[in-house]
Amino acid sequence: MCYRCQDYFHHSSRCTRSPRCMKCAGNHWSRDCPKPTDTPATCLHCGGNHTANYTGCPKNPLNRKSFPAAPTNAWSDPAALARIKEKPRQASTSKTEIQFLPNPSTTSQNPPANQENFFLQMSNMMSTMMSSFFNQMAKFHQSNQPLHIQ
Ligand SMILES: [Zn+2]
Ligand SMILES: [Zn+2]
Ligand SMILES: [Zn+2]
Repeated sequence: MCYRCQDYFHHSSRCTRSPRCMKCAGNHWSRDCPKPTDTPATCLHCGGNHTANYTGCPKNPLNRKSFPAAPTNAWSDPAALARIKEKPRQASTSKTEIQFLPNPSTTSQNPPANQENFFLQMSNMMSTMMSSFFNQMAKFHQSNQPLHIQ
């Protein structure tokens, strides 16, 4: 923390800002503060009754994880989570149920058979294609070889 401007994440040696008082948040160095030491400090970050370098300041980035407590608590709140989870589920299931529910027995039983048929057809197609290809190659060679020889 910078003791020149009281801001976070940089050192006072690199600070080009005007000095800020960590005791009263005034535009002066903390050591030049005219404020009596027995009066409560004013944090320039949050205006609280502590010096600006107070690590417990709610504006301190180190404390920010705990401070946006509202959204983080909402995630751990089961009711809020349920509400968040419900929305996409309702949207997706309403579509998928309409599409797939009319014949659940056929859709649940057919895919493996269809897959087998598909692979059988694919292998048959591949074998026929390969055999026809080799047949043509053989014919090509057979028809060409005599020409080459002659
Ligand atoms: Zn600074
Ligand atoms: Zn001051
Ligand atoms: Zn503060």
